[in-house]
Amino acid sequence: MKILKFGGTSVGSAGRIKNVADLVSKRGRNVIVLSAMSGTTNTLVEISDYLKCGNIDGAKETVNMLEKRYQRVLAELFDSEEYRLRAEKRIEQSLALIRSFTRSSFTTAEKTILAQGELMSTALMYEYLLSRGVKVVMLDALEFMRIDRNAEPEIQYIRDRIIPMMNRHEDADLYLTQGYICRNATGGIDNLQRGGSDLTASLIGAAVEAEEIEIWTDIDGMHNNDPRFVEKTSPVGHLHFEEAAELAYFGAKILHPACVLPAKLNNIPVRLLNTMQPDAPGTLIDNSYKPTRQGIKAVAAKDNITAIRIKSGRMLLAYGFLHKVFEIFETYRTPIDMIATSEVGVSVTIDSDRNLQAIIDDLKKFATVTVDRDMVIICVVGDLDWHNDGLEAIAIDALRDIPVRMISYGGSEHNISFLISRDDKTHALNALSEKLFNAKS
Ligand code: ASP
Ligand code: MG
Repeated sequence: MKILKFGGTSVGSAGRIKNVADLVSKRGRNVIVLSAMSGTTNTLVEISDYLKCGNIDGAKETVNMLEKRYQRVLAELFDSEEYRLRAEKRIEQSLALIRSFTRSSFTTAEKTILAQGELMSTALMYEYLLSRGVKVVMLDALEFMRIDRNAEPEIQYIRDRIIPMMNRHEDADLYLTQGYICRNATGGIDNLQRGGSDLTASLIGAAVEAEEIEIWTDIDGMHNNDPRFVEKTSPVGHLHFEEAAELAYFGAKILHPACVLPAKLNNIPVRLLNTMQPDAPGTLIDNSYKPTRQGIKAVAAKDNITAIRIKSGRMLLAYGFLHKVFEIFETYRTPIDMIATSEVGVSVTIDSDRNLQAIIDDLKKFATVTVDRDMVIICVVGDLDWHNDGLEAIAIDALRDIPVRMISYGGSEHNISFLISRDDKTHALNALSEKLFNAKS
């Protein structure tokens, strides 16, 4: 059994929903996970924001717009009047629930509103598949997907709930469920954070010990560089989970970073595929080691980075300095991305400025602090075991005429990170592609 997850653009119109229905009904008894139709979650966030700030008219108007879009999809999707009416009833239920919050001024019920996107997309797919004679069984994510008090998914709970739900319908052609949505420790409706449908797929994959998890989007796999900034990029055929984790974290938007872990731990391959080109090989991510000719597989960039240099005369020959530094970041719950140390100082980077001033104030109690804003991390990923000589030299050579603020290498066997100014990002990405990928092909 496989888990097939389709993102928002893959189900973004009646035509796309039909495509996905075609695709999944040929593939055997799998679990299909859907995101909300593209744009829907953003619209739901907007509605909830209007409600929060008391702009009831703004909320009502936005629900009306949403309704119009779904009515059009309903009209275009169904030939069968019977199934169209059933789907319409379900969509109207969601819209009525959202509208009910425009009448009570106390509850913002944000999470409940955000959950309607996936509930509506799966309702459309469910009725459409039934109308075509596919025996599809809906697995309600709110009945099995749960996070604990720390917002961590409860894999044992998920397993204990979903398996009996599936076993009750062993004759199903397909199972269908909502990505992203879940319940929390108090039983309330919650979610796995924006982009969380990938994580849903990975968690279900782990729970049912799936053979493979397929993440279907509208690009043919993970590319070796960012196509928005580099003209000539190509899909990477294979990545180790750790390489994928680095790329997902450092900017490759195609896969949600949290999604990697459950699949990796349970040794379930993840395949990134393209709904527009279903036969393209895409990218396979697993725990296997497959050496490649060029060693370095891909480059990604992470924006809005702040670098902090922390220097202290007392760091010389002292221990405990780094502990004091890290303690401050921990106090403000601010993750550090990159670190570079020397005998007299340490530089770290963070991607959130939220507590920057407080962090600086605390650091200044025992060190001198300088800050560089608007920086970018360029992350070079591949088979960078330290015995593979020359690879770091090629990357550094590619950046020869770009000022580099920090370099981090050796933290894992899969990554070199460079910190540069935002203004040099496009140049750096292109220079790396030229040297690493295009020169040899
Ligand atoms: N619909 C949610 C979002 O837009 C979850 C997802 O698509 O992964 O973030
Ligand atoms: Mg996504």
